[in-house]
Amino acid sequence: MRRTALPHMRFYAKLTLTFAVSLRTLSPLLPDEPGLAGFHWVRYVSANIPTNVRGPMLHPHRRRNPLTGEWVLISPQRTQRPWQGKQEALPPASLPHHDPACYLCPGNTRAGGAQNPDYSSTFVFTNDYPALLPDAPADASAEEQQDSFLLTGENVTGTSRVVCFSPRHDQTFADLPVEGIRAVIDTWATETATLGERYRWVQVFENKGALMGCSNAHPHGQIWAGSFLPNEPAKEDREQGAYLREHGSVLLLDYVALEAGRGERIVAMNDRWAALVPFWAVWPYELLILPRTHIQRMPGCSTADRDALAALLSVVLRAYDRVFSVTFPYTMGWHGAPFMTGATDHWQLHAHIYPPLLRSASVKKFMVGYEMLAEPQRDLTAESAAGVLRALCTTTDH
Ligand SMILES: [Zn+2]
Ligand SMILES: [Zn+2]
Repeated sequence: MRRTALPHMRFYAKLTLTFAVSLRTLSPLLPDEPGLAGFHWVRYVSANIPTNVRGPMLHPHRRRNPLTGEWVLISPQRTQRPWQGKQEALPPASLPHHDPACYLCPGNTRAGGAQNPDYSSTFVFTNDYPALLPDAPADASAEEQQDSFLLTGENVTGTSRVVCFSPRHDQTFADLPVEGIRAVIDTWATETATLGERYRWVQVFENKGALMGCSNAHPHGQIWAGSFLPNEPAKEDREQGAYLREHGSVLLLDYVALEAGRGERIVAMNDRWAALVPFWAVWPYELLILPRTHIQRMPGCSTADRDALAALLSVVLRAYDRVFSVTFPYTMGWHGAPFMTGATDHWQLHAHIYPPLLRSASVKKFMVGYEMLAEPQRDLTAESAAGVLRALCTTTDH
């Protein structure tokens, strides 16, 4: 069934990429697409035109990210320029259930000499080559070099853990059954609570795909915990705190209610969670996963919250894989209130998903040039990306 649905999927994606610029540009698409008999393209496009990309939103403009205070430049008029840039290599088509050469598969020996147990669900271990160390020697002090205000450093301690999502080498996180995703959520929550007893910031994340620099296809994520508040959460701490002081409410709770009411950037939603392309998205198909009630950290999620989150993640991650008919690469990570700090009422748990793919399975967005030197820029509007993903969420591939 999946094969017969693909021409439609590709068409929906191409169509929605195009409508934000001009309805008139749609007609050349139609004769080239197979299997479209009876498809009401005018009704589809009309129903999916985001209200706020009409008028000025069709022209270059900037949008502000209230979580960081930073801006992104939007250039929707560029979505039709011809592409002559780099084509990334496609990932291999099939993988074995168990790879004897994989250091994450059950029973295999890792580079450091440790042997993985014969695990059947999730499996967590301390990275054999960690970026952070729990007992960094104080005498090798970065602070020793602080004989100038211009050479500021600080000592840090921490740890890096690896979370195997499944014993199956060939299953991605999106491929897991909902119960498998649910088990990963429990593991994230347990690890966050444990590491939060010792470290100020616990960063749960997954780098998926070779395009994101992930060298091993085995489904896995990482957790880095450290004694310091890193740059990104530090910005969000500042902005969420300022919002609570100014408005007397939680920034991301107000935001999810606003988006649920408007609908144009919502990709999928249930009674406890929403997945949406944020108004200020930088990456083409960036998503924000938000609880619809006040939850500060992953361990604060109830059983029902976790069940609902697993269901939502399963839907949106499978939709990702349908955008370009390829296992979708991304970096996904969770932000929640820091530990070992003062009041954190301003914090709301959320996940960011940043996929690099732009216009096909092999064309990736690069953050270079103006983006490195001035500010991030995108062509595809958040509303158009949300329309593509929302349509793919309601499609079944079974
Ligand atoms: Zn493996
Ligand atoms: Zn965040």
